[in-house]
Amino acid sequence: MSNKGRPALSERFLETCRKHGLKVTPQRAGIFQEVSARKDHPSADDVYRSVRGVFPTISFDTVNRTLVTLAEIGLIDVVEGLGNRRRYEGDTTLHHHFHCTVCGRIIDFTSREFDTMKIPDDIRRRFHVYNHRVVLTGLCPTCRLENHHLSHHTNEGGFA
Ligand SMILES: [Zn+2]
Ligand SMILES: [Zn+2]
Repeated sequence: MSNKGRPALSERFLETCRKHGLKVTPQRAGIFQEVSARKDHPSADDVYRSVRGVFPTISFDTVNRTLVTLAEIGLIDVVEGLGNRRRYEGDTTLHHHFHCTVCGRIIDFTSREFDTMKIPDDIRRRFHVYNHRVVLTGLCPTCRLENHHLSHHTNEGGFA
C-alpha cells in the first residue's frame, strides 16, 4: 500500500467490467477510484471537479455517464440525495446513512440492529427487496452545536 497515490485497481473492478463487456479505460478506472477513495458520497459534479485534475479534457457529460454505467453494473451505489443532486459511493457493503439536513453531509454508520431488521410482510409482498439501508435524518454533531434552536425538530427517516 502506498501512502499517497491511488490504490491499485481491484480485481472486482476488472472482473465486473470484463463480465459486462465494458472496456477498462484510464478515465473509467480513474472515476471509479475517485468514488471509491472518497467517504463523502460525492455528486457527479464533485467527481468531475476532482478527476479534471487528472484528465484535463474530460467532460462533465463523460463523468456523469460513467457514474451511471458504474452504478448499473453494481460497482458503485447511487445514494439517495437530499434535494435533487444524485450522489454516489464506492462502498457497496451494507451500511447505513445519517443525513444532515443543514450541511448536507451523508455520514456512514454500521448497526447490527439495522442490518438484521425485519422487513414488514406487506412490503415484502409488494416489492422484491434485495438490499436495505436505513436513512436517518437530522443534525450532525457540528450542526447540532450551531443550531440549538433546531434540535427539537425530529424526522424519523426511513428505508432507502
Ligand atoms: Zn451538518
Ligand atoms: Zn455510505
